[in-house]
Amino acid sequence: MSKAQGTVLEIDLKALKHNVAFLKSRLQPNTKFLAVVKAFAYGSDSVEIAKYLEELHVDYFAVAYVSEGVVLREAGITTPILVLHPLPESFETIIEHCLEPSLYSTRVLQAFIAVAEDKKQSNYPIHLKFNTGLNRLGFAEADIPNVLSIIQDKRAINVTSLFSHLAASEDLKESAFTLQQIEQFISIASTMVNGLGYTPLLHQCNTSGILNYPNAHFDMVRSGIGLYGYGNDPKFNSYLKPIATLKTIISQIHTLKSGDSLGYNRALKATETLRTATLPIGHADGIARAYGNRKGYVIINNQKAPILGNVCMDMIMVDVTTIKCNEGDEVIVFGAQHTAEQFSETISSISYEILTAISQRVKRVFYR
Ligand SMILES: *Cc1c(COP(=O)(O)O)cnc(C)c1O
Repeated sequence: MSKAQGTVLEIDLKALKHNVAFLKSRLQPNTKFLAVVKAFAYGSDSVEIAKYLEELHVDYFAVAYVSEGVVLREAGITTPILVLHPLPESFETIIEHCLEPSLYSTRVLQAFIAVAEDKKQSNYPIHLKFNTGLNRLGFAEADIPNVLSIIQDKRAINVTSLFSHLAASEDLKESAFTLQQIEQFISIASTMVNGLGYTPLLHQCNTSGILNYPNAHFDMVRSGIGLYGYGNDPKFNSYLKPIATLKTIISQIHTLKSGDSLGYNRALKATETLRTATLPIGHADGIARAYGNRKGYVIINNQKAPILGNVCMDMIMVDVTTIKCNEGDEVIVFGAQHTAEQFSETISSISYEILTAISQRVKRVFYR
């Protein structure tokens, strides 16, 4: 068994390249590809991932917040960056760093135009977000006349895209609802294009939308989780490769006898002899307390080692009673075999949550 270097998140850039190629193989040749790199590129590293994706010539990046876009610009990323949820107090920063805001209400649209005019901009790229059923952010279809009248004759801005977001693209039981979202987006886009007198890019699909709704790709698609190797469906997972492997090591092995207890609050009381391994990873690294008490497990020597007792801040203890292993041996928390999706399902969570939970304390290592 190989010796690991403490707790590390290994990122396989070859797998990322494979995932981009697979996702693009699902698109028409002219469809643009936006790579979502918010939240440290789903817990990996937004700068390393964006640099590599820029080499692969993706058309756009998206981040959630302005600060995330600033980090990419300061690292030298020159590809356009859509900021999905900018707050008005950062509109000046947006312009200073050539970031492109998603604007989703008359309040933020008017605020952005005021800042763009103040900063003497012309044709500054903006993206208008429409709500078609997620009911999270976005203009309503009924807002269109008002939106058009606000935008009319405003030379400071240019509407680069119109977009919306699907609520249940991974759930085929909800396909009637999704098709209705797509129809409504088409209707919104046609009214907007008429009113504007020019045709912005249209986009609505996230990863599962790309895979399940090929007729709704429009001019661009926005992929996040698919890039990182997860397709929200066993069928698609088989075509994708998880890019991240979370590894750690065994720091110490203990043998408990019946009656001994383990960890904080004595959450485990041994009723027979138990061999336990202590690992240098805890809830401060992203392993939620919910994984404790035998809910989650890690892989040691290709075998499942359940997490015992309460998850500590910096450590977990796992059951290695039936596993041949030594102090210093490698442990896989999740990776290509025991995936982040499988790991997260043990606490009814999703791949997105465990990936983005891996804290900045965990060292990231990249392989080409
Ligand atoms: C996060 C996000 C995406 C990416 O979704 P995935 O399911 O990870 O592909 C796309 N669009 C918007 C608006 C998002 O917030």
